[in-house]
Amino acid sequence: MIEYRPVTDRVVEALRQIAGQANVLVGDEALEPYTHDETVGLRADPEVVVKVTSAEQVSRVLMLAQQERIPVTPRGAGYGLSGGAVAVHGGIVLSTEKMNRILEIDRENLMVTVEPGLITGELHRAVEAEGLFYPPDPASLDSCSIGGNVAEGAGGPRAVKYGTTKDYVTGLEAVLPSGQIVTMGGKLVKNVTGYSLIQLLIGSEGTLAVVTRIILRLLPLPKVQVDLLVPFDDFQAAADTVSAIIAHRILPTTMEFMEQDSMLAVERLLQKPVPFSDAAAHLLIQLDGNLQEAVDAEMEIVGDLCLENGARDVLVAQDRPTRDRLWEARRMIIDALNQESPVNHMEDVVVPRAEIPQLLMGIKEIAGRRGVRIVSFGHAGDGNVHVNVLKDRIADEQWAELQPAVTEEIYRLSLSLGGTITGEHGIGATRRRYLRLALDEAQIDLMRQIRAAFDPNQILNPGKILP
Ligand SMILES: Cc1cc2nc3c(=O)[nH]c(=O)nc-3n(C[C@H](O)[C@H](O)[C@H](O)COP(=O)(O)OP(=O)(O)OC[C@H]3O[C@@H](n4cnc5c(N)ncnc54)[C@H](O)[C@@H]3O)c2cc1C
Repeated sequence: MIEYRPVTDRVVEALRQIAGQANVLVGDEALEPYTHDETVGLRADPEVVVKVTSAEQVSRVLMLAQQERIPVTPRGAGYGLSGGAVAVHGGIVLSTEKMNRILEIDRENLMVTVEPGLITGELHRAVEAEGLFYPPDPASLDSCSIGGNVAEGAGGPRAVKYGTTKDYVTGLEAVLPSGQIVTMGGKLVKNVTGYSLIQLLIGSEGTLAVVTRIILRLLPLPKVQVDLLVPFDDFQAAADTVSAIIAHRILPTTMEFMEQDSMLAVERLLQKPVPFSDAAAHLLIQLDGNLQEAVDAEMEIVGDLCLENGARDVLVAQDRPTRDRLWEARRMIIDALNQESPVNHMEDVVVPRAEIPQLLMGIKEIAGRRGVRIVSFGHAGDGNVHVNVLKDRIADEQWAELQPAVTEEIYRLSLSLGGTITGEHGIGATRRRYLRLALDEAQIDLMRQIRAAFDPNQILNPGKILP
């Protein structure tokens, strides 16, 4: 167990010398926004926050932290769902929020170079204005940062067809815990020069290096997009339809699953009707392409498959306002569930796509047997389901025992179906005690050695990922 030292006035003064007076925050009120991310029930106080504006500043902060044996927690927008940006050992929170520029949109190479603090939705809008497309679309895209997406290996609804953040990063500049600045890759579609350190950093949750510049591959923006909202009276039929569509060799851009409880919660939050909220489950399916006829033909097939599998109706949105209305409910689910049961636990299990019906039915069985409300929704098209275990009015002492037991059962179910315990939200602080369920000791040991090679003094984001 590493012993860390406290942040002294001298350290605060040194940070001010590095980043400027206004970019160093101390005191309870100023630090409060940095005590948590979006993980329900997790808080920890940093001793100081430093808002960096360059790789050189990051390097100097890390060298200072090494010298003083102070932990450093990198932070993007603080929208994580596994506590990665929460300073569980205190020390310095290193915020990239001011490193938020788009440095270049390279139309010839179809690449964009950005700083890590850029909000992902701003990146989307900027490249789309040029007829280009950055597909990864976490539902939090208007709040989270691209650096946070890289560090978490973030996904999103479009992963079904387009993959996740890891499929788009071709170059990184990063600062190692020693303070050394390294550049990896570039505007390269192909690159097999040595081990892929880029892929190692993606999803490393700020435990190996601080990312300070990112090069991302872009695609041409698809010209045609259509969204289908499909209500089902039978929960199982909706789950089976996901498999039926994939088995038909059609790859929609997205295939989101929402069970009735999630729609009713949104209806209560918005205080307005959500279409077909009396249905047992909904699928939200998006198709895209460049030719209207081709997209229309796929839409016909998907619509027919849904109806054959028992859909009550198929609502089509070809224009932006209708599409936004269909997606509004999906995007509000987390807020709605948080409002209904402020204490809850969101799981992020992922299974092979064909196992989605078994996963969803298994979760229903756990909920019934354990007497707890569990609401599932998420990216069914890529096998990644968000499973919300709600405390509701369960007594605190009962919840303290029930929640970890239910979580473990959900993980074991996912693993038994060939899945794993997190698809996109990461291990962070909240899942590290379950890591051994998913990985054997040999793999965990390798990860420990990798971490020690980057950071022998465990300065960077301690208390995350590894048990
Ligand atoms: C309503 C809601 C919906 C969401 N939907 C999705 C979704 O669809 N898909 C999905 O994948 N996630 C989703 N998330 C989770 C979250 O938004 C993502 O994990 C996102 O990538 C976090 O980005 P951030 O900037 O907020 O990172 P933070 O929370 O600030 O940090 C996350 C992790 O990244 C590290 N980090 C941040 N910046 C850097 C850097 N520059 N260098 C090194 N490490 C760094 C931190 O130390 C931490 O471990 C959702 C969250 C919410 C609240």
